[in-house]
Amino acid sequence: MIRTLGFGLPRLGPNLEYKRLLEGFWSGLLSQEKLLAGLQELEGLRATAYREAVDLHPAGELSLYDPMLDLAVALGLYAAPAGDLEAYYALARGNGALPLRKWFGTNYHYLVPRLPERPQYAPRPGWFPYPIGAPQEEGLPTLIGPYTLVRLAQNPPASPMEVQAHLEALGEAYGELLGWAGGRTVLLQEPALGLDGAGDHLSWLLPVYRTLAERTPLVLLTYYLPLEPGVAEALAQLPLKGLGLVYQPGSPLPHPAPGTALVLGVVEGNGVWRTDLAALQEALTPVVEAGQEVWLTSKAPLFHLPWRVAEPLPPGLEGRLAFAVERLKELSLLKGLLLGEGNPEAQAWHTPPLPWDRVPSPIPPSRPSRQVRRQGQKDLGLPPFPTTTIGSFPQTQELRALRRRLRSGQLDPAAYRARIQEAIRENIRLQEELGLDVLVHGEPERSDMVEFFAERLEGFHTTQGGFVLSYGSRVWRPPILFAPPKRRGSLVLEETLYAQSLTPKPVKAILTGPITLAAWSYLPQGVGFRETVLALAEALREEVKEVAAQGIRMVQVDEPALLEKLPLRERERPGYLEVVREAFLRVVGDLPPGVQVHLHLCYSDYAALRPFLEAMDPDVVSLEGARQDPSFLEALADLPVDLGPGAFDVHSPLEARVEEILARLQGYLRHLPPERLWVNPDCGLKTRKPEEAVANLRNMVEATKKLRERMGGKDADRT
Ligand code: GLN
Ligand code: ZN
Repeated sequence: MIRTLGFGLPRLGPNLEYKRLLEGFWSGLLSQEKLLAGLQELEGLRATAYREAVDLHPAGELSLYDPMLDLAVALGLYAAPAGDLEAYYALARGNGALPLRKWFGTNYHYLVPRLPERPQYAPRPGWFPYPIGAPQEEGLPTLIGPYTLVRLAQNPPASPMEVQAHLEALGEAYGELLGWAGGRTVLLQEPALGLDGAGDHLSWLLPVYRTLAERTPLVLLTYYLPLEPGVAEALAQLPLKGLGLVYQPGSPLPHPAPGTALVLGVVEGNGVWRTDLAALQEALTPVVEAGQEVWLTSKAPLFHLPWRVAEPLPPGLEGRLAFAVERLKELSLLKGLLLGEGNPEAQAWHTPPLPWDRVPSPIPPSRPSRQVRRQGQKDLGLPPFPTTTIGSFPQTQELRALRRRLRSGQLDPAAYRARIQEAIRENIRLQEELGLDVLVHGEPERSDMVEFFAERLEGFHTTQGGFVLSYGSRVWRPPILFAPPKRRGSLVLEETLYAQSLTPKPVKAILTGPITLAAWSYLPQGVGFRETVLALAEALREEVKEVAAQGIRMVQVDEPALLEKLPLRERERPGYLEVVREAFLRVVGDLPPGVQVHLHLCYSDYAALRPFLEAMDPDVVSLEGARQDPSFLEALADLPVDLGPGAFDVHSPLEARVEEILARLQGYLRHLPPERLWVNPDCGLKTRKPEEAVANLRNMVEATKKLRERMGGKDADRT
């Protein structure tokens, strides 16, 4: 038997209904009643979309904010009485909110719960999944499984004994939670079973799953990562209704117990190109003919994709893309093919990849030695503890309105440019008045650090309405790379040169790096991450060369995605480090020693950073530090690179006082020699109000002056 299962259809809905409902409630425009009614209606819309295409789909997917938070509350980890949405949202976005973290290397952020110190849980079956997936709903009730919770918590148990204790306690708690399903088949989502080390935990996990499966019909769904063969085989022996795993044509499938369906992730949940259904038909036919019950599904939940392909596409892209709704359709087309139905649409569905003609150019020679660079950069004339910013200045409503008018044609490009120049003039004037040492143009022309480059590079398609969820109600529009990226003209050159023409102080040329551009876009068809990154690096290389040729002395590469793209699997990490090294060298490797290379990183776990800095060998690294314990610098202290751990938190609307900044800088100096410390904010100032940004920068400069006085200038001499 063959069935189709859809899951993870965007909770945003076809027209951002989810965002509007949540934000309406938070702003007080919508009552709780209206919010819940709106969500019910949205759930109806989603159910219809599922029903039109697939045989099976989950119920209870429409979290009020985040499914991990729902689970934490349902397990009694936090107090949020059923029906008390204020208490629930306080956990998501209040003062003591749970931290956010990237979910399995995707751009979705989940709320990270804390496990109780002692393995005791107080399940509240009535709460879960409140209120949307109530048992009267159609569909398979779904929730995230105990193993994923344990692995992804703030405090994953350290010793094997503790892991065992938590899993056993959770097994009982889940037993109670699953009772709410009233005997219906439950879809238990366990993507963490694909992580390294899952095999070591199986001996405790298997009995837990077995007990649950004996009481409740259970589909154990894994996705994102293919399972290790040993793990898959062991899980397949459980008395499950179905075992879900990422299908890899050519790799052997596990042999499930009789009556257990193999739920195969066959279409992408995280990429946009239509699936080669004929190839899958060929690969899967023997499995089906052998009598194995197969359910067809996606390799990842579909919320990493926009709802559906709904706007006109440029000529080469028509008929090539599949977003969430089209993925559901693919499942049904594939089922038809496997059942031997001749469907012309299924036959014509997929087109071979567009050509990817890229002749790789030779890697530039390695960068000049650190000593030669120091010598070459001496004339930059930097004082001790140089002050600078990360790039963006506040993006006012006015700037956003200008961009909208440019897009809609109400404003002509020349007028837009004049307004951008005006903003740059104002930013330079302000920085000079504040007394900053290294200036920036302020990025008024950039909507978003990835979309902006995607719009200026050939090879990218950007959408108007292709939104996906980032966290809570926050959305973004990933661009689609479809051909080797090419520089059409200035990316950052024009604005940087204009800014530099207004001041004798050095202005940094600021570019989003190749890793981040690739990480926050959809990859080209049939082209891997590595090749994409290197192609992007090549496009930036041209720009960077030009920037230096025109006399700019500092280049900053922004790579906030560097560490989040660190592969989940240990064995893939050395290869990743190599890609990062080569890509960075391609971007900045042609620069003469006199051009200072800055790297910016933020909001990551810096534990893995050191080998990357060694491999990339920048001159200066700015990173967010105001929310971290300064001791993370210890591991970097002996590297020959200058560091600018953030002097203040750019996300706080509270003013950072001079004394507070000074204390923070002194804290950094306990871990770093003075000649290596730079002074800058954590990240860009884009989201701050102008007066907040100015106050904080003024205090930052003031604190630096005090620091210079205290250090007597001598110890901190840079020469
Ligand atoms: N240069 C960018 C800015 O200042 C960097 C943004 C980021 O790191 N996320 O906004
Ligand atoms: Zn940043």
